[in-house]
Amino acid sequence: MINKNHLGFALLLGLLGLLVNLAPIPLFGNQQLIIGNLFFVIVAIFLGPWYALLTSLLCATGLYIAWDSWHMFLLFPLEALWLGYARRKEFYTLYADITFWLLLGMPLFYLYANLVFQMPNSYMTFITLKQGINGMLYTALGAICVTMLPSQLHIDGKLMNKKRKSFNAQLTYTFTQVLTLALLVSALIFNNNSIDQQQRDVKLNLEDSAAHLGKATESFIEGHISAIDNAARWLSLSNYDAAQWQSLLSKLHQSYPFFISMLIADDKGLISAASPISRLGKETVQNKDLSISDRHYFQEAFYNQLTFISPAFLGRGFGTDPIVAISAPLYSKDNPVSPIGIIEGSLNLTKFASIDERNREFHEQAMVLTDENGLVIYASEMLDLAPLTPLKVSTSGQRYRTSLNMINFRNLDSFNPEFAYAKYVLKNGWSLYVVMPFSPLVKQVEQQYLTTFSLLFIAFIITILLIKVISNRLTQPLETIAKKFSQWGMAEHQDEAMADTTPQEIYALSSSIQKSKQELISYQLELEEKVAMRTVELEDANLKLQALAERDELTQLYNRRYVENHFGNIHDMCKRSYAALAFCIIDIDHFKKINDTYGHQIGDSALIALAELMKQFFKRDTDIVSRYGGEEFLVVLPQCNALQVEQHLNQFKELVAEHQIEVPGQAAISLTVSIGAVISNAGYMNDIDHWFKMADLNLYEAKENGRNRVICSLLSAEDQLS
Ligand code: GH3
Ligand code: MG
Ligand code: MG
Repeated sequence: MINKNHLGFALLLGLLGLLVNLAPIPLFGNQQLIIGNLFFVIVAIFLGPWYALLTSLLCATGLYIAWDSWHMFLLFPLEALWLGYARRKEFYTLYADITFWLLLGMPLFYLYANLVFQMPNSYMTFITLKQGINGMLYTALGAICVTMLPSQLHIDGKLMNKKRKSFNAQLTYTFTQVLTLALLVSALIFNNNSIDQQQRDVKLNLEDSAAHLGKATESFIEGHISAIDNAARWLSLSNYDAAQWQSLLSKLHQSYPFFISMLIADDKGLISAASPISRLGKETVQNKDLSISDRHYFQEAFYNQLTFISPAFLGRGFGTDPIVAISAPLYSKDNPVSPIGIIEGSLNLTKFASIDERNREFHEQAMVLTDENGLVIYASEMLDLAPLTPLKVSTSGQRYRTSLNMINFRNLDSFNPEFAYAKYVLKNGWSLYVVMPFSPLVKQVEQQYLTTFSLLFIAFIITILLIKVISNRLTQPLETIAKKFSQWGMAEHQDEAMADTTPQEIYALSSSIQKSKQELISYQLELEEKVAMRTVELEDANLKLQALAERDELTQLYNRRYVENHFGNIHDMCKRSYAALAFCIIDIDHFKKINDTYGHQIGDSALIALAELMKQFFKRDTDIVSRYGGEEFLVVLPQCNALQVEQHLNQFKELVAEHQIEVPGQAAISLTVSIGAVISNAGYMNDIDHWFKMADLNLYEAKENGRNRVICSLLSAEDQLS
């Protein structure tokens, strides 16, 4: 389902990203820093992968307009999806991004760049690394934006965390964001500044060298031009005749060793003196067999009467070295208007190799000297430019952010620069290029970036470890407090549990928790004591209540309820052991009379005395003696000997009759009882009423037959029917 608000949010941030990405921040060379992608990071954090994908496509469009390369449409949407999914899985975004660039982003970019860009290979590692670092930078920026956004800013239905994260993890992550951003930005600014400075230095150096070498070349050529010039004037004004020219020329040549050869020709262009003479042969010169009348340097000097310097050419018979010819007209002393010949020196241009070498001792530079026609006169060996070929150059690196001027000699179509250069134009129209290969410069910059980033990486790791220590100082005591508080009983004093690094606030918290816990425990102990006391009282009362419920108040014998409640159990017990059970009702004879005669209180005493007698007589543990009501008692004798019960009851009857009940202030009184009893084997009815009825019949019979007697009958199963 597409949420309209979310779509709007993603599109708006995408447009912002597009605008920001239209103007990436230039770094060294053709590398630029992308910032606008932070907007798709924000969308990924708020809304997950698909909206982030949309935003990232817009951001990439901005870069496409700025760079005209397709790779951002591959990399950045992939990154956005990755971050969105990681967010859904509740991974921290920055960590997810680092993983993305390490596992996917950088390898993919490296592949793409290898296939598509024509980059020097050394440059590839650097720009790949730069992509990853740039990714981390804008991700840290985006994540920080989200962290700093006021929590009131509410986006309906944005992604929320389900898992609670530990304080340690949160602190570490926040610091990681800030550190990444701070370290990367400062590293970039620092590196950028120092690279700018370095490049200005390189440029100045090149310009210095060009000016210096140019002037040296100029003065070298001018020195030799004026040598020819002076020699021509000196010969023209002196009285020497042509026969002496040979020796004069040889002497002159010794002062100017850089002339590979010198010659004097007459008005017809025939060589009349040459140095070294061995080159042409003495005979040839003496016989004037060689003519130079067709040479440019002869014609210019002789007909135009100029001091002339020729373009570079390969001298005939002088090997493969290019030379220039410098010539001047000769006059006779008497006629300074029309020349009588010329003097010429062939300047060996390999002389520049020594200038070049001396320069190379101090700088990593090479030089190219071209004549006014653009032919290479001299080029350093490393440039591999053939002498006397036209120099072809193309300026390059227009896309590079650098103050250096750049030039290509070999790969004229590439916009990747080969050399940084400075040019000096000599007075005679020659040009001197001082060049420096560009790739070592790039390498140096790369090295610088790599060093800074590895240092930063180490600083980063150390800081993360420190944060862990600091946050442990907070969280560990908290955990200790939580654990201690959850354990029952009096804990040992907190000093034993808390490290000395525990912050003051936590220590105070722990102290107050400890105090309230102790208060709580003592309160609880107090409470437990009270409860125990109450329980004892209650148990006491219960016992009393039970006694009240089961006992007769006057005689302390069991009451009717007790017998009725327990008769079933007693009956079952006898039934299991096939034992006999006796059920006896004992009734005082003419008790009414006693009451009437002695009063109710004495009657009560008599009841108590009889009860005491019963307790003593029926003394088995299993015998139940109870007051059934009024002056009627019920005695149940389980597991009795059926044959002896009647005798036993008669003994009791006798005992009662003989017993004297003391009455204070009166003569003792005596009583008699009538007893109706039934005895039965196990298996007889377990209904107490039935037993009672049968015993009562016997009691009735005892009363009828004159009282003070026992009527006892043995019941069998058949009797229950009657
Ligand atoms: P009989 O030989 O036929 O049993 O004559 P009796 O007087 O014992 O029997 P009756 O049922 O006529 O009278 C029972 C008397 O017992 C009536 C009552 O005053 C007396 N009595 C019942 N309960 C108590 C008591 O708790 N204390 C005293 N002092 N007398 C009681
Ligand atoms: Mg009675
Ligand atoms: Mg009675």
